[in-house]
Amino acid sequence: MKKRIFALSLLITITAIIIYVLISAQIGYNIALNKDKECLKIYSNFYNQNIQFNQDEAKNLSIKLDGARVTFMDKTGKVVADSHTKSINSSYKNREEVELAIKNNEGYAVRKSAELNKSMIYYCKKIDNGLLRISIYTTTQSSILVKSLPTTAWVFAIDIILCVIFTFFATGYVLKPVEKLAKNFSKSDINETKYKELKPLVDIFNRKNKEISRQVTLIEEENKLVKEAQNSKNEFISNITHEMNTPLTSIRGFAELLDEGKMSEQMQKKAIKTIISQSERLTNLIACIINYNEINNDELPSYDVDISAIAVDTIDTLMPFFKQHNVTVETDIDEGVMLSSRQERISEIMGNLIRNATKYNKPNGKIIVTIKGGSKKYLQVEDTGIGIAKENLDKIFSRFFTVDKSHNGKNGGFGLGLAVVKKLCKKAGWKLSVESELNVGTTFRINFN
Ligand code: ADP
Repeated sequence: MKKRIFALSLLITITAIIIYVLISAQIGYNIALNKDKECLKIYSNFYNQNIQFNQDEAKNLSIKLDGARVTFMDKTGKVVADSHTKSINSSYKNREEVELAIKNNEGYAVRKSAELNKSMIYYCKKIDNGLLRISIYTTTQSSILVKSLPTTAWVFAIDIILCVIFTFFATGYVLKPVEKLAKNFSKSDINETKYKELKPLVDIFNRKNKEISRQVTLIEEENKLVKEAQNSKNEFISNITHEMNTPLTSIRGFAELLDEGKMSEQMQKKAIKTIISQSERLTNLIACIINYNEINNDELPSYDVDISAIAVDTIDTLMPFFKQHNVTVETDIDEGVMLSSRQERISEIMGNLIRNATKYNKPNGKIIVTIKGGSKKYLQVEDTGIGIAKENLDKIFSRFFTVDKSHNGKNGGFGLGLAVVKKLCKKAGWKLSVESELNVGTTFRINFN
């Protein structure tokens, strides 16, 4: 950029100098011409009536006039005498100055003399006995230009030196704010300038900076989500592996013992029972995982379902389970509460909540299932069970989370039930909440609207 500014300022000054030299030459030439014209007019006053129209008188007058050429002509422009040539009797009536003098009493002309081969200025004037013409050498524009060449060369040299100095300081001074801006651009988001010419540039910088930071934030957020998804996937796989490991080790251990054939009949029966129950657990686990994953892809349409009827059915189906755990069930169910969903989704939710309220209850415990319709439609499953510690209340909805692993063993849960409930509620836009007190009981509630 500095080079460009230097070249440009050099070009401008050189052009200015050329124009200046040309104009000065023209002005100088005009001044010189005017001076010559005045001089010729003064010279013409040296003529008087006593001077004869002949060659000698012409030469004498020429000497008096510093060697100026003197020509005497008759009234028609025919040469009678000439101080510088002998070619008399020829007619000058067509010469510009002669034509003018015949017409207007006097006339000037500038041209190259054919006889003397030099640039001359001619002055012709009417006198009593004819025409008097006086001419002297005059200058030309080109000779003025040639004369001014040494001065012009000096001016050129000084101009280039000044140009270099000026460009060095001026560009440094002018470009300083731009350089400062460029330096700060990568550092700060918002740039400011006191120069109004730079304002549009700064505005563009600021806009671009903002856009870049927005894109960076988006990319960072996307990366975070991808990382979270990756972590969650890894955690999921590691949990599944962990859950599968226990029954598989148990099955393999008992199968090897059976293979050795050294077990008593009673032990053999126990081993076979364990292999069967652990295989069932594995099958359950796989079914649970498939079910959990299927919720993500479930795009089946919803329809109006009677959740009161589904609750009654679920409770009826679980009766043997309640008996097994020695709990009683109370209901407070409004009849015919309708909801836009699917029957299997509601059954899944209710099954999970009521089974948990049974599994994590105390002997002789109670479960209360409430369904209310109207503007504040909700389902509530309350129990008088073991409760959940405050620090675990958030975690129970995470996949594979179980409060007590030993308890988990006894109840056979994989920690996927509440994760499924949470996912179904989230998909449907229902609000799931839990309240619990250790050793007092737990209440799960879903507000449908
Ligand atoms: P699980 O298959 O272990 O029951 P869930 O996802 O249904 O898995 O529940 C996660 C954990 O939350 C359970 O292991 C249990 O510790 C706790 N929990 C769930 N419901 C109750 C409840 N009604 N009372 C006490 N604890 C509960």
